[in-house]
Formats: sequence, C-alpha cells, structure tokens
Amino acid sequence: MYLYNSATHKKEEFQTHTPGHVEMYTCGPTVYHFAHIGNLRSYIMEDVLEKYLRYAGYDVNRVMNITDVGHLTSDADEGEDKMLKGAKREHKTVMEIAKFYTDAFFDDCRKLNIKRPDVVQPATGCIDEYIKIISKLVDTGYAYLAGGNVYFDTSKLEHYYVFNDHDEEDLAVGVREGVEEDTNKRNKNDFVLWFTKSKFEDQALKWDSPWGVGYPGWHIECSGISMKYNGEYLDLHCGGIDNAFPHHTNEIAQSESYLGHPWCAQWFHVHHLNTASGKMSKSKGEFLTVSLLEEKGYDPLAYRFFCLQSHYRKALVFTWENLDNAVAAYDKLIAKIAALNPEDGAVDQAVFDENKAKFLQQMGNDLNTSMGITAVYDALKAKTNDATRLALIGDFDTVLSLSLLEKAAAKRAEAAKAQTTQTEGGYTVTGEGDPAIDALVLQRYEAKKAKNFAEADRIRDELKAQGIEIVDTKGGATWKRV
Ligand code: AMP
Ligand code: ZN
Repeated sequence: MYLYNSATHKKEEFQTHTPGHVEMYTCGPTVYHFAHIGNLRSYIMEDVLEKYLRYAGYDVNRVMNITDVGHLTSDADEGEDKMLKGAKREHKTVMEIAKFYTDAFFDDCRKLNIKRPDVVQPATGCIDEYIKIISKLVDTGYAYLAGGNVYFDTSKLEHYYVFNDHDEEDLAVGVREGVEEDTNKRNKNDFVLWFTKSKFEDQALKWDSPWGVGYPGWHIECSGISMKYNGEYLDLHCGGIDNAFPHHTNEIAQSESYLGHPWCAQWFHVHHLNTASGKMSKSKGEFLTVSLLEEKGYDPLAYRFFCLQSHYRKALVFTWENLDNAVAAYDKLIAKIAALNPEDGAVDQAVFDENKAKFLQQMGNDLNTSMGITAVYDALKAKTNDATRLALIGDFDTVLSLSLLEKAAAKRAEAAKAQTTQTEGGYTVTGEGDPAIDALVLQRYEAKKAKNFAEADRIRDELKAQGIEIVDTKGGATWKRV
C-alpha cells in the first residue's frame, strides 16, 4: 500500500515495525457534545483505512482514546475545559456528560458502519501513565514547572514543526481563538503537560501528582494511551487535519523526548468537511449530527457513501444538494445490485481474482475510496455471471462497509413481498403487498358472487379513489397502484 505520510510530506510505501502487524492509533472524540458529521468524516475514512489494512492481510491493533478531561476550548491550552463547559450547559456532572456523549458517539459509529477500535480508552483511566511520562520529562529537563503547571519546553527540540507543509490556516488553529497568552510559558509553543493552576478553579476531575492536585493536558493523553496499548513503536497515527498542529506536533515532541527514539512512522490526516461558511465546528454553534440527518429522512450510510466518493486529502464541501446527489447514486447502486440474481451461476474464480487485484491496487493508492466505489460499478459491468458479481461486491464491501448486499437483499425481499397473493375459494388476488387492499378486492368478488353489483361497483370506486386499478383475470384479479 502507498499512503501519504504527513510527517515526510510524501506518498510512501506503507511500512510497519513488525512485518504484517500494524499498531494504529486514532485520536478519539472529546465527549462534551454530539459528534458532528465533520468529525465523523474523519472516523469514516480512518475506519476504511483500518479495514483496508486488514483486507490487505495485516493484523491490526487499533487504539483510540476518549477525551474526557483536559481538552480546553483553545487547542493552545487556553480557556475552559470543554467537558466542564458541557456539564454546565446541561446541569450534569462531567462524568455523566462523558458517559452520555461516549454512548452517543458509538451509536453514530454503529449507524455509519464504523467498527469499534480494538482498544477504547477514556483519558481519565490512565492518569498514572501520564504522571510516569511527565516525571521523566521533568527529570531529563524537557519539562519545567511554572505558575503551578508543568510545561513542555519546545526549545529543547531540534525540530518542532514536523507537519509544516500544512496551510497557515491549519497551523493557526491552536492560537486563533483570541484568548490571552499564558505568561508562564518560556516559549510561545510550550504546552501544558499537567495543570494544577488554571483560570478556572472549579475543575471537576482532579488527581494527586508530584506537582500538586490537578489534571493532565490534552496532548499527553494520546501519547500515554498509545504507548500503553500500542507499545513504543507506533506504525500509524490518525486524526483530522486540525489535529496536526498543535496536538500531533506536541504528541511527537513529548513521546520522542520521553522514549529517546523515533515514535510514530506514519501520520494520516483527514481533511475537513466544510460548509459554505468554512470548517464545520462545534464552537460555531451550528453543526449537523447523524440524528439530524435521520430526522430529515437520510440514511446515515448515504452520508458514508458521500464521504467515500471523495479523497480524504481533499476538503469536502457539504451542501444538501451534494448529499442528495449521493443519496440518488447510492439508491441507484443498490437497485442495480438488487437486480442481480444470486442463483445465476457459480463464482468464476479467475474473474473474481482479477477484479479483486484491481480493487486492492486502486484502494492501495493512498486510499482512493472513489476508485473503490468505481470497482463496485466495474463488478456490475464485468463479463461474468451474477454470482461472481455479487461475490466481488460483497468482498469489496468488507472494506467500504456500505451494507450493499444487505440493502440489495432487503430490496429484493420487498419486491418479492410486493407480489403476494391471496386465494379464497379458488379466486386469486395478486397485488403489491397490501393485505388491506387484497381484502377489499376479495370483498368485491364476494359481492359480485352474491349479485350485489352496486356493492361491487362501490368497492371498485373506493379502490380507484385510492389510486388502485383492478384488472380481472381468469380465476381472480390483479391490482396495482397507478
Ligand atoms: P474532537 O471531538 O473535537 O476532539 O474531534 C474529533 C476528530 O474530528 C478529530 O480527529 C478532529 O481532527 C476531527 N475533526 C474536527 N472537525 C472536523 C471537520 N470539520 N472535518 C473533519 N474532521 C474534523
Ligand atoms: Zn490525540
């Protein structure tokens, strides 16, 4: 597989520390509110990446944190803890908020066919880990105490801006919230490892530490959790592009200073979902959720389809019109698959292998998901039988996760149900699967049999008023909606 690596700014052949095994880490959600569909774009693309790696034969250990402490309203360690903000907003405790929005996040993931990572670790569960790392950073001179907090000293590093090919806008994320600067910092980019003093004294969750009662900074969570569950060598670290700076930059700084060797080889960043007015974000107040899409009648998987149609390294513009186009294409694709006959022939292994190799290669070219979808259309058009087409589509969908076969089967079942028949006394009614209509048609037959033609005509008119047309056949009647 070839994957763009944000750390080297190149598309590279994917390498792992242990052959055939991938240690993968994903920055998880900050659980102070619902995830918006922009956040979920990142999780969808990371999910496809994980599934592709497994499909390509790797064994993957995927770890994700849940940020339930320490992420302040500004990524540059300023402002209020987001969790506390959520708790105040809803008059609940921080832990109640964390539980509610963690469950909501995984509900959304389930609806979008996003697999749960192998390890999911709330940040509040690894405090000892962070204290161990921070203690060593203090001992080795990479960290200092000032104003009651522990800071990482970025001037001790030879190279700090590892992702500096990103847009100015991305780099500015951490500092653009306009909050006043922390005068304890020796250097502008120094960041908090452990807070004991902050502008808000009412922090709900606090732990004892060698530097006083306090709580960890946001960046140390991901380093600590990853080192605990992925080990000292991480193969692949994922997140949205806004995480590249300062979050991932700071993760690298502290992890490599702590370990004394390179930490993560490959960095995968998903670009933003934007609205007409820019990046979709919670701080702007207006954001779209999966529940809202459902309320408006959208299938969450149509949103997944919409995301897969674009490359993860390009910003994606969300408009209702764009989503509607994706819905139409997704529905049409499912209808085409539903029209295939599962009984048609046996799987032709040669055609299967040839198409699979193409899918592997195209998706392996920097996770080209739109080509992955094209492979599904190619399978539909392949010169082969329907059994092979269906086998290919099912195989590709283990990576794309669009529930293509399930939805096609449901559509087929619906169509079969629509052809229900009801028979009474040798009279057969064939209709579009509505027992109430079948019953009326039978009543009309009974009326005619009893020579009650007025009643028979009345029923015909009643059906006509409902848009139903009856055609009398030999030994019965058929009806359809016109
Ligand atoms: P958060 O819950 O704010 O910590 O963000 C969760 C994930 O969503 C992170 O990986 C972010 O980088 C990512 N993210 C935030 N906003 C967007 C967006 N508009 N489009 C895509 N990913 C995003
Ligand atoms: Zn992180």
